[in-house]
Amino acid sequence: MSAHPAPATPQSLIRPEVLALSAYHVADASGMVKLDAMENPYPLPEGLAAELGALLGAAPINRYPAADAQALKDAIRRALDVPAGCDILLGNGSDEIIQLLAMAVARPGAVLASIDPTFVMFRMIATFTGMRYASCPLRADFSLDLDAVLRMLEAERPALVFLPTPNNPTGNPFARADIERIAAATPGLLVVDEAYYAFGDSSFLDLPARLPNVLVMRTFSKLGMAGLRLGFLVGAPAWLAELDKLRLPYNVNVLTQVAATRLLDSYDALAAQAATLRADRSKLADALRAIPGTEVFPSDANFLLFRIPRAAALFDGLAARGVLVKNVSRAHPLLADCLRVTVGTPAENVRFVAALREAVADLG
Ligand SMILES: *Cc1c(COP(=O)(O)O)cnc(C)c1O
Repeated sequence: MSAHPAPATPQSLIRPEVLALSAYHVADASGMVKLDAMENPYPLPEGLAAELGALLGAAPINRYPAADAQALKDAIRRALDVPAGCDILLGNGSDEIIQLLAMAVARPGAVLASIDPTFVMFRMIATFTGMRYASCPLRADFSLDLDAVLRMLEAERPALVFLPTPNNPTGNPFARADIERIAAATPGLLVVDEAYYAFGDSSFLDLPARLPNVLVMRTFSKLGMAGLRLGFLVGAPAWLAELDKLRLPYNVNVLTQVAATRLLDSYDALAAQAATLRADRSKLADALRAIPGTEVFPSDANFLLFRIPRAAALFDGLAARGVLVKNVSRAHPLLADCLRVTVGTPAENVRFVAALREAVADLG
């Protein structure tokens, strides 16, 4: 009788770098003021919810979605200044687009690079796809150290560079001249991640039409559609045609296509909510600055990063008072004693500041 090999276990079969990962952490927010995930706090504009209800009710969910999602791409072009010569690739959130890009270039030894601190999915997806991750630290004020970035590009020769502007979790945007220098020095693709474009003054959507190795990625998650999961990539047709081969068919579902197409035709209403959040961001920054010992960093996004003594204990104090923010104080040495708060409704912002003041007083 031949001996059967021992059956595989997760520990024996799964790649060691996957075993070493911790899953992307999503905090339980039930019953809390949720200011941890950069969601738009406002419900759908008046009348639109009912209209969407009817549209979604009539959507043919028994059929596969339109594979090219042309109506939705047309709506994106009507709402935003996508350069005429560029194509659009849609993702199930921009997270999926990061993964598509990495899968496309992940030869053995290939490097995915970014800045540090930044959005954690860049590093995670490098691991998922077997790429090596390299990053260049920001300066202590979170500005870009351009010379250091250029040295990193020279040393690592990355196939793929992600540059979020404004950056998450720091909130600051980067200068166009710096982005263009990085594009010129990048031996591979530079992906400018404009997840927070709606809350600042810059747009880099024009770059892919001018610079041959630049793509721009955006998401509607921060603009009020986080639940729909829709991100997109803008770039030269030659790049996007290759990436499209790796996109799973029907990655954007029928309900998302119908809802987002309709919502984008009311883009002004969404932009108005973003404008309200921008105005409330500066009020929230003022209220935070009034708390002694607090440093608030400039933000072009729908969140604020602030430093406050004993941040981790204050995070717990806020949670105990029903307010959930993001504790990034242990995510990177530059973020020591930093918390990140999403701009909420005026009432939520007031509740957050009151809870923070109480938590500070509690610590004595
Ligand atoms: C939120 C975020 C994304 C991902 O958004 P999706 O919800 O997956 O579209 C991408 N990049 C940055 C910098 C983000 O903060």
